Amino acid sequence: MAPAYLPYGRQSIDDDDVRAVAEALRGDYLTTGPLVAAFEKDFSAKTGAPHAVACSNGTAGLHLAAMAMGLGPGDAAIVPTMTFLATANCVRYVGADVVFADVDPSTGLITPETAAAALARASGRRVKALFVVHLNGQCADMPALAAFAKENGLLLVEDACHALGGEVAGTPVGSCAFGNFAVFSLHPVKTATMGEGGVVTTADPDLDRLMRRYRSHGMERDPAFFTSRPDGFDADGSANPWYYEMEAPGYNYRATDFQCALGRSQLSKLDRFVARRAELVARYRTRLEGLAPLAAPLGLLPGSRPGWHLCPALIDFKAAGKSRGKVMRELSALGIGSQVHYFPVHRQPYYRRIDPVLRLPGAEAYYERVLSLPLFYGMADEDVDRVVGALASVLGAQ
Ligand SMILES: *Cc1c(COP(=O)(O)O)cnc(C)c1O
Repeated sequence: MAPAYLPYGRQSIDDDDVRAVAEALRGDYLTTGPLVAAFEKDFSAKTGAPHAVACSNGTAGLHLAAMAMGLGPGDAAIVPTMTFLATANCVRYVGADVVFADVDPSTGLITPETAAAALARASGRRVKALFVVHLNGQCADMPALAAFAKENGLLLVEDACHALGGEVAGTPVGSCAFGNFAVFSLHPVKTATMGEGGVVTTADPDLDRLMRRYRSHGMERDPAFFTSRPDGFDADGSANPWYYEMEAPGYNYRATDFQCALGRSQLSKLDRFVARRAELVARYRTRLEGLAPLAAPLGLLPGSRPGWHLCPALIDFKAAGKSRGKVMRELSALGIGSQVHYFPVHRQPYYRRIDPVLRLPGAEAYYERVLSLPLFYGMADEDVDRVVGALASVLGAQ
């Protein structure tokens, strides 16, 4: 029998997850019920964040953060080009401009230097925010980036969609010890899943309240925030039970109770998921060292304990005499999935129309070599050996 196909990522669902979802489905609330708040409480406890707002997906979470910070037309935000589309797109959703930052070619991470170069390029524009992406689950240098943001009066958003369960400078990712927001995705390829789902954490109660409004049409139901006395209150001063107010339109970005039930069940296993992924990555790294100089493990940045989402190899396809597409097709024929994270976002046709000439050589160099190998909780040590063995033979490294 041929060994099972190894996708580059997949969820890990056990009977306890299925039971948690089934119980939620049999409950009184399918959405906007108590499991949403319970999940948010668990998420706060796990990340050490004062506030956690559950939402429909990570992209919605980024959009909520952009709205809550008041980013809008005439503003600009710095975004590393080595990321998923959503990090840049959320800036465009609110009508602000994206200023792309380069990344370190060995880690793919934004650095204080590449952020400063982006800020210099944006001179004369109203740059209001810095987005940092913890690419692959490895954390960017948050103490230095937070200092840079502070010096320049920038709000700081961590796109932590890759990094749930990681730690940076001794604090859990998402604690918001350094940034104003941290945004997570619980898509099935990520470390823990809700099917589709996202969470934004913040330490600021005002930002928390704004995100809760924008998550549900911009509606405010708390009488403490009503601005119209005659509409909101009875003559005797009691709040009208049907009344809600909208200061600015939001969206329906809510997560359901059964998704949150799955999220809670998955969070309860997060430490195990993160630890196993770290073991697999450590094994990959040792094996990949043996493929030098054709392939190498990702560059490591000290100061963080990654919550690995992806396990990239950095490959010299030219030296191997094979295109990346050919390597991927040959790996696939051997039952091994792989993926490229990412085509630099500033080179997407949409962003190219806005800035046709921008060159970001660090991101180019990273993109040239990167290939994500299978990484998920259910993998065996032997699967890692099989992947690296297959990669060695495809690259002609042995
Ligand atoms: C997955 C991901 C997102 C978007 O999350 P969704 O839940 O798929 O909307 C945003 N940014 C990064 C870096 C991601 O990997």
